[in-house]
Amino acid sequence: MSDMQKTLQEEVTLSGIGLHTGKEVKLTIKPAKENTGFVFVRTDLEGHPQVEADVNYVVATERGTTLEKLGVKITTCEHLLAALVGCDIDNAILEMDASEPPILDGSSKYFVEAIESVGVAEQSVAREYLVVKEVLTYSDPATGSEITIIPSDTYEVTTMVDFGTKVLGTQNATLKNISEFKDEISSARTFSFLHELEMLLDHGLIKGGDISNAIVYVDKDLTPETTEKLKKAFGKDNVSIRPNGILDNLNLNYPNEAARHKLLDVIGDLALAGVKIKGKVIANKPGHYVNTQFAKKLNRQWKLQKRKTFRILT
Ligand SMILES: [Zn+2]
Repeated sequence: MSDMQKTLQEEVTLSGIGLHTGKEVKLTIKPAKENTGFVFVRTDLEGHPQVEADVNYVVATERGTTLEKLGVKITTCEHLLAALVGCDIDNAILEMDASEPPILDGSSKYFVEAIESVGVAEQSVAREYLVVKEVLTYSDPATGSEITIIPSDTYEVTTMVDFGTKVLGTQNATLKNISEFKDEISSARTFSFLHELEMLLDHGLIKGGDISNAIVYVDKDLTPETTEKLKKAFGKDNVSIRPNGILDNLNLNYPNEAARHKLLDVIGDLALAGVKIKGKVIANKPGHYVNTQFAKKLNRQWKLQKRKTFRILT
């Protein structure tokens, strides 16, 4: 496998609705020169300000990862970043005319398809890696979440989730090699629990996103009142519960789609470390908060590694 940096052959545009903003957004993924990394550009704001996909700009991690630089926000950046990493891209400009990329079906599938439709181009500068030499861990005692990385020649990720509910208990997912991202992970969609969805609908926190695409685990009674709300939100004549405990607006792509989606989120959030990784990540109960805290740790480790290399060279 080549170790040169990569970008897109040419630009590609996608449109859709942002999940939390409910706004129509146009996203153009453009090629970028070597050592650019991933850079968001807000074309709807004066001067087209840039926000680099850098973990030091993370300001919020509720229901998605939010970046902010000099007052300019980028929300729910993780599914797009996961697609870029999954397509083995190093450098890209991500132009958007809103703060949030389109949610599409809640997975990375359509971003991956868009990137593949224009193709990947090899560049003339070698890629740098964070080479993990010792075990690094971040734990959050409040939630019991823990992420660990151990040495490995490739970037591997395993996620274990346990929601402790009757409808969604323990699930695992593993990605052995990033070349398997498209087939194994990219089409795993975001999910929520009925009690959360109802709260988000009641508070107008999900505005216009096409939530008929969301996987909903039914963790409370489906009362006639709730059923009415869901029928309206989904634009359906009826909604009911499937035998596996999800709402019948869709079918699961994989029995462990929730664990696979959490793996997708880990890859997207760890992209904010700003470097390709050689190491095996084991994430127990991952979430955007622990993922980004761990990405900060990896980012610091990478800066340390670069300083050491520089000292050896000089
Ligand atoms: Zn997600």
